[in-house]
Amino acid sequence: MMNITTYCGKCKFDCPHKELREYVLAIGYITDAEMNDLLEWVEAGNSVYDNPNYYADERGKSLDYISAMRVIEEQLAERESFQRYMGEKQLRDEETEVPF
Ligand SMILES: [Zn+2]
Repeated sequence: MMNITTYCGKCKFDCPHKELREYVLAIGYITDAEMNDLLEWVEAGNSVYDNPNYYADERGKSLDYISAMRVIEEQLAERESFQRYMGEKQLRDEETEVPF
């Protein structure tokens, strides 16, 4: 876990790290990879309460950055296990003797 308190003091105006810090503390858990991406996103002038993939909740409200990232990760994991399943299925079908 990165020490997020070290990020401030380097901005003179409009520090994005204050919001970032509050957000990360509210989430409670964040990986170093997520923190790196989030920091890049915020320092590019974006809000932690927004995401680059236009992911939104059921009410159309933009998902926050980490929630959106975790949705993407989940979808990737699902796709991988689906592909693994399809791969296994294909192998089984090839082993099956066709009776005609
Ligand atoms: Zn700052």
